[in-house]
Amino acid sequence: MKGRTAEPDASRFFLIGNNLALDFVNTEIVCDGAPLDLLTDIADFATWGVGASLLTATQANTLLHAWSQRSKGVPQQVLSFRKTLSGIFRDLLRGNSVSAESLAAVSEVLNRHKGRVELRKTPSGFEKRLQADYTDPRQLLAPIAEAAADLLCGADLRYLRRCENPKCVLIFHDTTKSHRRRWCSMAACGNRAKAASFYRRQQRSGRRRP
Ligand SMILES: [Zn+2]
Repeated sequence: MKGRTAEPDASRFFLIGNNLALDFVNTEIVCDGAPLDLLTDIADFATWGVGASLLTATQANTLLHAWSQRSKGVPQQVLSFRKTLSGIFRDLLRGNSVSAESLAAVSEVLNRHKGRVELRKTPSGFEKRLQADYTDPRQLLAPIAEAAADLLCGADLRYLRRCENPKCVLIFHDTTKSHRRRWCSMAACGNRAKAASFYRRQQRSGRRRP
């Protein structure tokens, strides 16, 4: 049986968070009112890694071959770390305090999976990325944990936001100058919300007509 490959097209993932850890949390979405996990197997995780610029497509396929020998599933540790991060960010969004256990889990990943630091240029400036050899898929958690730590320690958390579409659970760090970003993306939720409000306005003005 031919194994799955990491697809070069990662467009099904929502890489809209302005932070790697938020993009990782955003692999759990809501679609037609039902929760949907976009990481169904290890190939999805590799494809997400390509989309998030953690891996090149070639590197992802080489790694995926080795990873799949051990398990086709996403390691439990990856999924539980996503749950931990999701809990941290959603607690912050609700104004709740973040538990010491959650912070310890982030520290633990940072300490367990050591890597080397690389500085890169981004369209808006520079970023620091922790790189590893990724022979174990769980090593991808290191740069994710690093991004979470950077966000928690260095970002203005007032601009951590959840998409305003009540049916959408995506979260992002609003880095716009005006800090008035409302949607995960205009295409996914912004236009839909605009169309809905246009429709409501049309309905109201239609009813007023004699
Ligand atoms: Zn949205």
